[in-house]
Amino acid sequence: MSVTKKVCLLPGDGIGPEIVAEAVKVLKALQLPLEFETALLGGAAVDATGEPYPEATQTLAREADAVLLGAVGGPKWDTLPRPQRPERGLLAIRKDLNLFANLRPAILYDELAAASTLKPEVVAGLDILIVRELTGDIYFGEPRGIEMRNGERVGFNTMIYSEAEIRRIGRIAFEAARKRRKHLCSVDKMNVLETTQLWRDVMNELAPEYPDVTLTHMLVDNAAMQLVRAPKQFDVIVTGNMFGDILSDEAAMLTGSIGMLPSASLNETGKGLYEPCHGSAPDIAGQGVANPLATILSAAMMLRYSFGWEDPARAIERAVQKVLAQGLRTRDIAAPGDTVVGTAAMGDAVVAAL
Ligand code: ATP
Ligand code: MG
Repeated sequence: MSVTKKVCLLPGDGIGPEIVAEAVKVLKALQLPLEFETALLGGAAVDATGEPYPEATQTLAREADAVLLGAVGGPKWDTLPRPQRPERGLLAIRKDLNLFANLRPAILYDELAAASTLKPEVVAGLDILIVRELTGDIYFGEPRGIEMRNGERVGFNTMIYSEAEIRRIGRIAFEAARKRRKHLCSVDKMNVLETTQLWRDVMNELAPEYPDVTLTHMLVDNAAMQLVRAPKQFDVIVTGNMFGDILSDEAAMLTGSIGMLPSASLNETGKGLYEPCHGSAPDIAGQGVANPLATILSAAMMLRYSFGWEDPARAIERAVQKVLAQGLRTRDIAAPGDTVVGTAAMGDAVVAAL
């Protein structure tokens, strides 16, 4: 394997430190050429330095090849002025590293199919990946505002994407599809929105570069419906910031187990920030009961997408599946009669399953 990769660990707040420790345990067990450095982000950083994304953290995060994050925030910091809130640290690091591509797999292991909001036969074995553009679209487009026109207030935002922005997220999605079942569905609303007509055109222009991937298109209203009706028809979905916001939460709910869902946010250099989809869960922090699997699976994504180490990434995913098959459950994914284990025991079990 290649040169040593540097991983910046940002445990953050709440259950963050507990779950990141388990992911590190798993990575170390694989004996990969990895180097770890730890820094402060969020509330922990505010307490130590007064800032949610302090300079020392910026330096480490920029130098590292990838960042593994726990979670930030908690009631302790909710009364601070906005610039000092822990969540600001997260927004700042995403912007600083220019993380424009958000990858959220929604995987439902057969063993947990009963936890879903849908019938087991609809979702058992679900394995889809949503690629959401994260830095453009109607969220950031100018002009925007609320102003007086003809004696009444009007509110307006601008949905805008340049072809370069569409192309770079498109490439990430095609590459991801290539590593999976080779089907990419691009979601837009081209029948009414010009921005997304361009989105569709640019996706079509990219397609010949990826002849091994089948590209299809779907309107967002239909995609929202299909995700509930027959989610297993999808492999990779690529879409803009706003549609992606909605569809990725919808897809997450299909699995019904927030403690299981990893995520990756990537920039053009392949550098990424990896974190569980869930928050800092202050209600269970420090109790040793948090589910570390979303963070462990985020570490697997890091090996795959930032380092190109597919085999150890798969090994982690298989180990997770194995411990679920053995019947191990943290409290959040336990059904009556299951053996409930704590955070560290779950991490140990994944290591043993490797
Ligand atoms: P945020 O605003 O940061 O997303 P939130 O309050 O919306 O936070 P979470 O912090 O994810 O959401 O917590 C929601 C619920 O899920 C809480 O009851 C929490 O205990 C539970 N939860 C979240 N993550 C885990 C986990 N890894 N293991 C067990 N339970 C979890
Ligand atoms: Mg939330």
